[in-house]
This record gives sequence, structure tokens and C-alpha cells, in this order.
Amino acid sequence: MAATNPPTFEQARGHEEFRQTYLDTLLPHCSDSVSAIIYDPLLQQLRHHCREWLTEGYLDQFEFDITFPKNDQSIMFVPPLIPRKFGTGIRSPILVSKFGFENDCLTTEERVLSAVFDHEVIHCYDEQRGFSLSNGITIGSHNILELSPSIYTPIQELRAYRVQLHRWKEKKIEDPQWMDHIVQSLLRYTSDLELTHPKTKLEEMAREEYLSNGQLE
Ligand SMILES: [Zn+2]
Repeated sequence: MAATNPPTFEQARGHEEFRQTYLDTLLPHCSDSVSAIIYDPLLQQLRHHCREWLTEGYLDQFEFDITFPKNDQSIMFVPPLIPRKFGTGIRSPILVSKFGFENDCLTTEERVLSAVFDHEVIHCYDEQRGFSLSNGITIGSHNILELSPSIYTPIQELRAYRVQLHRWKEKKIEDPQWMDHIVQSLLRYTSDLELTHPKTKLEEMAREEYLSNGQLE
């Protein structure tokens, strides 16, 4: 029997059974910080993952609540690492829910590639290597707990959305709605960060940096 071609994006959108195979075709184009791209229709794997960590005490209830999405429309994720593994070289999976293929957000392949390669990959990269502030301080497993989730989460998203915006502009694809989605997300996380009150020196430095400029990658 002749080898069949991998499914196209349109086929994956239309037929659930093609989705994992389609996502598998993206993996070789990701950096090695990504271990897999998993079709997790109802985010059961993510739920299982977070519950396990809650039970084992790696996440407390507050962290669990902000980590596990209450919004069932959530489309794409990198599951968070327990803090002591952050920046220690670990590879992370990207999970894609059924809404990644069925809602009115990721409606073109260009949008999917933008979300995977220019956003989620950045989260995986951070989880693997940690990241540095412009003054040379590295954020990793040794100090990540000095940043509260209310400060760390918007910083993490700003890092990813800034790369995504930069690369989307470079591609010069005519899709003002997608550009607007990225810009609005940047504004939302900037305002989330503005509303925080730093309690440690590290929080103060990281917050200042990401409110002013921040490292693009
Ligand atoms: Zn993100």
C-alpha cells in the first residue's frame, strides 16, 4: 500500500482523527525544548497532570486554581512545571484542546503556526532554560519562588506575545484580526502586571523590566 500524505490543516480541522497526525508534522520544526504536541481534546491530560501535582504538594490550591483553566474554551497550553524543575533543561509538551480546531480563533494554518512556533515554543524554551533579566540575573529553579504567580504569569505571557508580535510583523501576512488578538493580549498582560505590588527585590526588578521593555527572547 502506498504511503499516505500527512493530513493538511483543513483536513485536521474537519476530522478529529487527523488532528494528532497533523500536530506531529509540526514537531520537527519546533526547537528541542518541545517534547511533543499532544491533541488533548478536553484537556484531560492537563487536568490529570495538575491534580497529581496538587495531591503531591508540588502545587498549592492557589497555584492550581490559576494554573488549571476554568475556561473550557482554552485552546493551547504548555503545562506548568513544578518550580524546582524550572529552567533545568527539561523538555515540555504543548497541549492542544479540541477548541484549537473548532473555535473561531485558530481558523487558518498561519495562525496555528504563529501560536505554536512563535508563542508556545517560547514557553517551552523558558521552562527548559529559565530566562535572564537585562541586569544579568537568571530566573531559574533557584529563585523562581521569589516571584509570585501574579507577577510571573504576566511576565511569561509578555515574553511569548512579544516574540509572537515581532515574528508576525516580519511575516507580513494580511490578517489584522490576528494582529489585534496579539496586541490586545499584550495590553491585557501589561495591565495585569501594572496592578501587582512587588514584595521581593526580584519581583520589583522583573516587574519594572517587563513594564518598560523586557528582553524580546
Ligand atoms: Zn502563553
